Amino acid sequence: MQPLLSPEEIATQAPGDILTNRLPADRLFAQRADRLRTLAAGHAMADFLLFCARIADVQQTALERLRPLTQRPDEGLLLRCRQHGMPPLDAQGADLPDTWYEVLTTLSRELEPWAPPVLQSALLSLPGLGRPALDALARSILRCEASPDTVIELALAPLVGAALQVTWTARALALNGQDIPSGFEDSLCPACGSHPVASIVRIGDAGHGVRYATCSLCANEWHVTRIKCVPCHNTKDIAYQGLEGEEGALNPGVKAETCPACQASLKIVSMEKDPFVDAFADDLATLALDMLVDEAGFHRAGRNLFLFTP
Ligand SMILES: [Zn+2]
Ligand SMILES: [Zn+2]
Repeated sequence: MQPLLSPEEIATQAPGDILTNRLPADRLFAQRADRLRTLAAGHAMADFLLFCARIADVQQTALERLRPLTQRPDEGLLLRCRQHGMPPLDAQGADLPDTWYEVLTTLSRELEPWAPPVLQSALLSLPGLGRPALDALARSILRCEASPDTVIELALAPLVGAALQVTWTARALALNGQDIPSGFEDSLCPACGSHPVASIVRIGDAGHGVRYATCSLCANEWHVTRIKCVPCHNTKDIAYQGLEGEEGALNPGVKAETCPACQASLKIVSMEKDPFVDAFADDLATLALDMLVDEAGFHRAGRNLFLFTP
């Protein structure tokens, strides 16, 4: 990461000067489940979105159980991370918290009756897979490494992703906003170092029209300038594409922001257009937009852990 401020300036910045990071809402997953149910109405992929809503409901319950057991990192580590712009909840290199596996067990148990057939048979194999194989799968997902080895692992990947989201969201909620490095506007989450799922233009307490990138893992949001490519920071010839139906724009709150410099496309969801948008849920409901920009030669830069891609 390239600092925009010196470490001294970052360390002496008064808390609350600018809202550079927004921690996830306490009821993040419950709100996401509601949004997914709204988006499912009349949608061609309604069954998929409704199952995702069930996952989000169970994620909320698991999050509430996990939060009291989740500790803040030690103060020395937090200070070093703030000074050098390193993510305190590093998802790439640091150890996997043990709690992630308990969350996976809870999610599997609660979701098994509603799971689609492919996932149901994968869940039957879960006890036989063994903890080392599941830890390895979790690490490969966190590090965006190559695809899982087997059909079972591929089917389990979204559920493993869901368990990792709960674990990292609980860890993010144990932080204060000021614990997270600020003054860096990077393409990766300053709390955990993961890729964004999309970006969101917010209204309300953050002021009108302020844009944040939403983390695909811990759900922290970090401030990013508007009309600027999040992956490569280019500001030239940025364009926007939406989904058009016969009667006008479909999902008017969602656009793909495309960058001719790096050929990336990252979605931008706007609370100015629809106050109930959720970056993660609205991303799942607009996969047709990804296909459209893909045909135009742009690759998807957003990462969604329910859609397994390395
Ligand atoms: Zn994050
Ligand atoms: Zn770019």
